Amino acid sequence: RTFESLGLSSALLRALDSSGYTVPTPIQAQAIPLVLDGQDLLGAAQTGTGKTAAFGLPMLQRLSKETPPKGPRKPRALVLVPTRELAVQVADSLKEYGRHLRMNVTTIFGGAGLQPQIENLRRGVDILVACPGRLLDHMDAGHAKLDAVEVLVLDEADRMLDMGFLPQMKRILARVPKERQTLLFSATFEDRIKALAVEHLRKPRLVEV
Ligand code: AMP
Repeated sequence: RTFESLGLSSALLRALDSSGYTVPTPIQAQAIPLVLDGQDLLGAAQTGTGKTAAFGLPMLQRLSKETPPKGPRKPRALVLVPTRELAVQVADSLKEYGRHLRMNVTTIFGGAGLQPQIENLRRGVDILVACPGRLLDHMDAGHAKLDAVEVLVLDEADRMLDMGFLPQMKRILARVPKERQTLLFSATFEDRIKALAVEHLRKPRLVEV
């Protein structure tokens, strides 16, 4: 398979070309067409399999097809991640894949100043990559609004549960629109992940690599 045959736009294909990606990884080949089709996804994949591009490329394509609403842009995609390191890594990859699109990607995580994050939120965001705890702080303070989110990604969901983020994840999930696309990635399909999927995903397609 080629990235072109998966249905990606030329702006994304050009970015992949400059990144030196020539062949889709197995998770990308399976997930990209499903996500482009608007399906919910339950993906079993470890870091290193190319899962960031597997959800990031079709998500960027969906967002870039729409005309963003006028005025300050509220996040239309939210990627929840367990750690600051993963937040930075995912945001960097999304910026790279979206280099030919006009997409604002912002990170939110604890252990860093609030003010710069508040200013980034004020400036307008298309894609928010966030750790649950600090995101809730910004939501409670009225700085992060999730009512425009149409794509939600739970990345390394098993690790978020391991770190005790379930209550925070539930509070966040209660504040994103019900009408959305949800993509959940975990290293394994253990029972607690299946339970999360049953509750928060809609007819998810399974992808395992
Ligand atoms: P990830 O699992 O998303 O953290 O990606 C692991 C690494 O593989 C990252 O350094 C990516 O830049 C790289 N990568 C992802 N997809 C591809 C691909 N199709 N071809 C070459 N490298 C890739």
